[in-house]
Amino acid sequence: MATALPDPPAALALTREEPLSRHTYMHIGGPAAYFAVPEDIDHLSRIATWAAEAGLPLRVLGGGSNVLVADAGVRAVVVSLRRACGAVAFDGTRVEAGAAAMLPALARAAAERDLGGLEFAVGIPGSVGGALQSNAGIGDGRAIGPLVRSVTVLRGGVPVTLEADAVRFDYRTSTLHAAGELVLAATLALTARPRAEVEAEMRALLEARQRTQPTAEPNAGSIFRNPPGDAAGRLIDAAGCKGLAVGHASVSTLHANFIVHDGAGTAADIAALMAEVQRRVFAACGVRLRPEVEWWGDGDPPEAFRFADTA
Ligand SMILES: Cc1cc2nc3c(=O)[nH]c(=O)nc-3n(C[C@H](O)[C@H](O)[C@H](O)COP(=O)(O)OP(=O)(O)OC[C@H]3O[C@@H](n4cnc5c(N)ncnc54)[C@H](O)[C@@H]3O)c2cc1C
Repeated sequence: MATALPDPPAALALTREEPLSRHTYMHIGGPAAYFAVPEDIDHLSRIATWAAEAGLPLRVLGGGSNVLVADAGVRAVVVSLRRACGAVAFDGTRVEAGAAAMLPALARAAAERDLGGLEFAVGIPGSVGGALQSNAGIGDGRAIGPLVRSVTVLRGGVPVTLEADAVRFDYRTSTLHAAGELVLAATLALTARPRAEVEAEMRALLEARQRTQPTAEPNAGSIFRNPPGDAAGRLIDAAGCKGLAVGHASVSTLHANFIVHDGAGTAADIAALMAEVQRRVFAACGVRLRPEVEWWGDGDPPEAFRFADTA
């Protein structure tokens, strides 16, 4: 039987049973046992201390664009850093961006200052903190990792700045993720580039997304990682899964590596569809697809996520 949830001190301003569907890009997800939008780092670190004392995991939600939250919710303290870590400061060709700064807005703010480097990020609806966890990037190889000069994380309740060489970025992952670091901010090195050029490239990238990805229905971007040397979308298409549906969720007919839902979809629908796609791709192509989206839930993950962290 689940143990009763403790009462937090009122000063921490934690809300109970906050529906995470309000905070995820897919509009899916049950309640967080506790939820907060800390005012500053001190408030965040007091929440982190209380969560540790209460034996509850602390989870940071950025843009909520790469998580699938269980319909039953999570027994955790979930924080949004949008107040504590939303600031952005440019200094020459460098920018110090708070973890909650959103990539599209950051890319546009850089363009206004005649700075390039973040063009690839204009269509990625995530935060800097989320992007650093997964080394967010696009198909041509551009990603956030190579821009990073330092990352500030919260350790033992205090901010600690790591130089770039202390962090490793690989395809859709980083050592920050593996170490469970709570990212507060990052300094990125950008490049001088005329605003008109930066904006023209961003427009072209957004137009390409409009043509090739389902932008009107809720989704989580690429649902599976590309296996080495291949594209998950190609394999899913080859296995005949375009349009395959479970409940209110279906494989996009525009891009096979996107799962969309009609507004009434549940995490159970999405996870069951992912598992069915994995089975069909394995049967047709012999490849086991690994999720790119991250599962947030208590207890054992659903079948689709069981091999999420193995090669
Ligand atoms: C329409 C669409 C298009 C997309 N296109 C792309 C794409 O082209 N390329 C790509 O790489 N991704 C893409 N994605 C996926 C997603 O946007 C990225 O992975 C993004 O970087 C996730 O950021 P987020 O803030 O939304 O993270 P969330 O989904 O909120 O969280 C993801 C993980 O990061 C952790 N996290 C978030 N912030 C912090 C923090 N400050 N400190 C510690 N951990 C943190 C969370 O705890 C969680 O583990 C797309 C998604 C959508 C919906």
